[in-house]
Amino acid sequence: MGTFKAIRIDKAEKGTTAALTQFDEAELMAGDVTVRVEWSTLNYKDGLAVTGKAPVVRRFPMIAGIDFAGTVEQSSHPQWKAGDQVICNGWGMGETHLGAYAEKARVSGDWLVRLPEGMSARDAMAIGTAGYTAMLAVLALEQHGLTPANGPVVVTGAAGGVGSVAIAVLSKLGYHVIASTGRQSEAGYLRDLGAAEVIDRGELTGPAKPLARERWAGGIDSVGSTTLANLLSMTKYRGAIAACGLAAGMDLPSSVAPFILRGVCLLGIDSVMCPIELRKTAWSRLAGDLDSRKLAEITQEIDLSQVIEAGARILAGQVRGRIVVKIV
Ligand code: NDP
Repeated sequence: MGTFKAIRIDKAEKGTTAALTQFDEAELMAGDVTVRVEWSTLNYKDGLAVTGKAPVVRRFPMIAGIDFAGTVEQSSHPQWKAGDQVICNGWGMGETHLGAYAEKARVSGDWLVRLPEGMSARDAMAIGTAGYTAMLAVLALEQHGLTPANGPVVVTGAAGGVGSVAIAVLSKLGYHVIASTGRQSEAGYLRDLGAAEVIDRGELTGPAKPLARERWAGGIDSVGSTTLANLLSMTKYRGAIAACGLAAGMDLPSSVAPFILRGVCLLGIDSVMCPIELRKTAWSRLAGDLDSRKLAEITQEIDLSQVIEAGARILAGQVRGRIVVKIV
């Protein structure tokens, strides 16, 4: 057994430390599949973990990184054999199970999804948890019965990772997409992705009225707090908002008015423990419903040595679109 490169998080006297270092293979946790990690990605939660800004990491030492794409090296799981190309998102990686910013990962074979036909490992991680969560939100809205004929859809945190993928997918599906952003300088970028309208997030950040003018039939919110409350109060009769994030806060200062007077639904989206069948559906839909040219436009590439600095930038709201991390 040898060592491999990894971003290791340790507990310090005050908070945590993060460093790119060598990790001993003997310290890998239990799992029936060992994967050679080729690509990972940077999500908001990764930013929290590498900067120690929130207690995301609950086991030490930890390898940060909540998702990877790579090739199976060894497997005793019936579904996987050496050479298979796989994706893994969440399941506590980087939180309670050693994570993805590493040349090697050992996980349960039950957590893995096969890389879809025609999708590269790099593209899978350019999508990453943020993009897969955007697709889970789209699927939830569809299951609710939303179609482009019902009216516009709003996407908040539009220039971020979840937001950028959501806009690209929804516009390809034929929706009139309203993108809400705090960065008007990114209006051109958002229109190129497929936004029909770009609004200032200031319109959605004050205290929410119980009910306001009906503006959209559906929405995907990665911001939370008063933004989500305003979204709900502006949702059309029997519309739905899929809530997946908390970039502005975990609170939800809303009232029951949208639910009981307009029949509006609030759909909760969790990517971490999402059942495997729904993951497979999401990844297969991403292979078809996300334009690879648009994915390339929203993606920047970094390597492992740049992850910690980029983690601070994502928390500061300074990252546009998605960051893919080259491991080897
Ligand atoms: P990003 O940082 O890439 O995007 C978040 C965006 O939110 C920013 O780009 C910015 O968009 C907007 N934003 C940031 N701060 C504020 C603020 N104070 N007020 C209003 N808007 C703000 O993160 P991701 O897209 O990776 O993740 C988005 C959220 O979704 C995070 O909270 C993350 O934890 C959550 N998430 C949840 C998952 C789940 O399983 N439920 C999975 C993945 C992510 P703009 O500049 O356009 O205004």
